[in-house]
Amino acid sequence: MKKPKIVILGAGYGGLMTTVRLQKQVGVNEADIVLVNKNDYHYETTWLHEASAGTLHHDRVRYDIRDVIDRSKVDFIQDTVVEIKKDEKKVILENGEVDYDYLVISLGGEPETFGIQGLKEYAFGITNVNSSRQLREHIEYQFATYNMEAEKNDTRLTIVVGGAGFTGIEFLGELTNRIPELCREYDIDPHKVKIVCVEAAPTVLPGFDPELVKYAVSQLERKGVEFLIGTAIKECTPEGIFVAKGDEEPYEIKAGTVVWAAGVRGNAIIEKSGFEAMRGRVKVTPELRVPGYEDVFVIGDSSLVINEEINRPYPPTAQISMQQGENVAKNLAKLIRNNQDLEPFEFDNKGTVCSLGENDAIGVVFGKKLTGAKASFMKKVIDNRSLFMIGGTGLLLKKGKFKVF
Ligand code: FAD
Ligand code: NAD
Repeated sequence: MKKPKIVILGAGYGGLMTTVRLQKQVGVNEADIVLVNKNDYHYETTWLHEASAGTLHHDRVRYDIRDVIDRSKVDFIQDTVVEIKKDEKKVILENGEVDYDYLVISLGGEPETFGIQGLKEYAFGITNVNSSRQLREHIEYQFATYNMEAEKNDTRLTIVVGGAGFTGIEFLGELTNRIPELCREYDIDPHKVKIVCVEAAPTVLPGFDPELVKYAVSQLERKGVEFLIGTAIKECTPEGIFVAKGDEEPYEIKAGTVVWAAGVRGNAIIEKSGFEAMRGRVKVTPELRVPGYEDVFVIGDSSLVINEEINRPYPPTAQISMQQGENVAKNLAKLIRNNQDLEPFEFDNKGTVCSLGENDAIGVVFGKKLTGAKASFMKKVIDNRSLFMIGGTGLLLKKGKFKVF
């Protein structure tokens, strides 16, 4: 009898978790497992703010996919997904195609630009290894160029961060640690450097614990960040941005670097492939399947799961992606054994920790509020846990964060 073929698209948190769990739970004779990813490496998206600021080398945030998969059970294809033909049960890749019996879409998300003019062209994102490396290099280039010019252009040293969500705040934490190093390296007066964070909502980290938000803001302000709250970015240009408070007239902030960290939407492949979606995310069934397509699962940033308690979607996180991966692997193991009694997905929220640089953070873990070194320690525990869950002790020892104090 022909073995069912399970194809997993994307080797991020959700996709890799699905793969490593499936390879443990399914025998070689039970199913063919195929993993497709555009790079031969996985990157820790949750560490990209460090690579982007230059406080951690980009090679530290990635590892070879082949190091964590069982190659006797999983066929890894390094290729880029172009489109999913769901009615033909086929995935079109840049260099070929692959058919499936069961499909897991775990292609992550993309920056949400809300159609704001100029962002795609002129702003930097914190999205993957390439974008992080480019942002780090760009900031360094601005510092290196400053003293080369006879007429000093101070706006080269202005960095604007759009969005004070978790990504924006974590990046600012790293950046404010990196700036003194850059100033020393390039002989620049630190007073010339300006860091501005623009947030449309009436507060930094909207929805997070106000006491912890206050702590984060005061720590970052102390390190030189200027917050423009209740102020939205309206346009990005090669010279900087235009912002406006409410209905007021937009004004310009000139900046050598603009970073856009104001939210994510689902991967463009979702809409391109004709799946019904909200901001590129598929509202999945309780078993994480696409309504009407029982053979297609969507997990991670391209999926939308409602938190019934507040009737709003869960925020897209690595935490939920990994739990979804575990759930899908368990259910796929049932399906290939003709057991249709699938387990619905239930999110077990263990908390949130937001770093403010190497030794500082804020967080709520198992309902307990933490700040400073304790929160920072927890953040490293969380980072190490995800390595351990995917690659065991070997990966943890190779890539883990052990400088905890
Ligand atoms: P990803 O982990 O993004 O993986 C998607 C994979 O698909 C990648 O390997 C990519 O290369 C591949 N891919 C994409 N398109 C294609 C294609 N067309 N063809 C082939 N392959 C493709 N969440 C937390 O829970 N805790 C945190 O502390 C945290 N910190 C964060 C810090 C930062 C700076 C950022 C940006 C996000 C953070 N998040 C955090 C959110 C978290 O990183 C995401 O929610 C998570 O990465 C989503 O996982 P995923 O499996 O959906 O996709
Ligand atoms: P987000 O949606 O959480 O925050 C984006 C922020 O940008 C919001 O505060 C929003 O008001 C603001 N914004 C939107 N449009 C704007 C505009 N025109 N001008 C100025 N500000 C604007 O997005 P994110 O921070 O990129 O996070 C994405 C996901 O990743 C979230 O689910 C988040 O929880 C998760 N994440 C988690 C962690 C962590 O747990 N430590 C870290 C990073 C990201």
